[in-house]
Amino acid sequence: LFSAVAMAPRDPILGLNEQFNADTNPAKVNLGVGVYYDENGKLPLLRCVAEAEAGMQAAPKARGYLPIDGIAAYDKAVQGLVFGADSDILKAGRVATVQAIGGTGGLKIGADFLQKLNPAAKVLISDPSWENHRALFTNAGFTVDAYPYYDAENRGINFAGMLAALNAAPARTVVVLHACCHNPTGYDLTAAQWEQVVAAVKARGLVAFLDMAYQGFGEGIAEDGAVIQQFLAAGLDFFVSTSFSKSFSLYGERVGALSVVCASADETAKVLSQLKIVIRTNYSNPPTHGAQVVATVLGTPALRSMWEEELAGMRVRIKAMRGALVAALKAAGVTADLEFVTRQKGMFSYSGLNAAQMQRLRSEFGIYGVDSGRICVAALNEKNLPAVAAAMAAVMRG
Ligand code: PMP
Repeated sequence: LFSAVAMAPRDPILGLNEQFNADTNPAKVNLGVGVYYDENGKLPLLRCVAEAEAGMQAAPKARGYLPIDGIAAYDKAVQGLVFGADSDILKAGRVATVQAIGGTGGLKIGADFLQKLNPAAKVLISDPSWENHRALFTNAGFTVDAYPYYDAENRGINFAGMLAALNAAPARTVVVLHACCHNPTGYDLTAAQWEQVVAAVKARGLVAFLDMAYQGFGEGIAEDGAVIQQFLAAGLDFFVSTSFSKSFSLYGERVGALSVVCASADETAKVLSQLKIVIRTNYSNPPTHGAQVVATVLGTPALRSMWEEELAGMRVRIKAMRGALVAALKAAGVTADLEFVTRQKGMFSYSGLNAAQMQRLRSEFGIYGVDSGRICVAALNEKNLPAVAAAMAAVMRG
């Protein structure tokens, strides 16, 4: 039965992890993963999460099946975060939101629904993008192409190229956009650039799919969600996937969502019914724990302010590490202008190092980043930063 099965390629980033774990260098540092570590290099358990869980344990509940679309209070809390709790679109009942298994699950439910709706449409993702975008939409049955995004020469975004690609795309093309904290480059569009993207999506009749995996990691919860308001203001129907993996440090609980903005409450009910079929035929209904934690935190004012403070703490620490890395590289004699590192948002930095330099970082110094030059700034701390900066400076000197 399986004699013709070929070996699938290893996930490049997970492969890097395996290599890191096998490395015996005591000074090794893993900057390959997309995970936030605190100032002590530990994966945090947020206090708001621990308190919500303590409350849940004090009054344990039986674990019945959840509704197909998840915990109602959770879906409502997601909508409040993404669209603004008082937004007209929510009052009008024009958003279908379903609980999903992480942000990945939200993307997959959306992809499967779109594939039924519009099987011949193409999907455009950014060049480069989160590794799984291409595979996920390809596996859902789409042809996936890329729109230009990273401008290596100018350390920024090839916005003209991106816009030209959108303006050349046929109607109904699905455009996957990173709402904030672009993974892997760290470069985000300005509000003025987003305005032009929104106009192009509208003029060409494209379908925007906003992937919001890092809300709150860039500038703030509302600031990072500002692009959603721009799409709403244009009167467009669009998709938003949400992930709480990073913002709640709940990676393993797989807490996410998909929201679909529709033209009317009637359309919303129909879309929701179709999303439920996708879920029902894939995994029937979602798990309880993580979503209950998030719903409790977001729905309890004291826990919610605690979360906002803890999220701000992660955001501020990442920014501080960006500044500290640039300062340490300068102090180590690197003369190139590295200010771009502080302009980037979110967990990642495209450091500008090439594959050979990244490989040298690994083999000579035990510093693990992705060959594309991507490093996870959220894994830097005051203890590992001197060694990382010294190693980066060494490979940059050649
Ligand atoms: N989209 C992007 C851009 C991401 O970086 C990630 C996670 N690294 C995801 C989606 C998936 O999030 P989750 O782990 O919640 O499935």
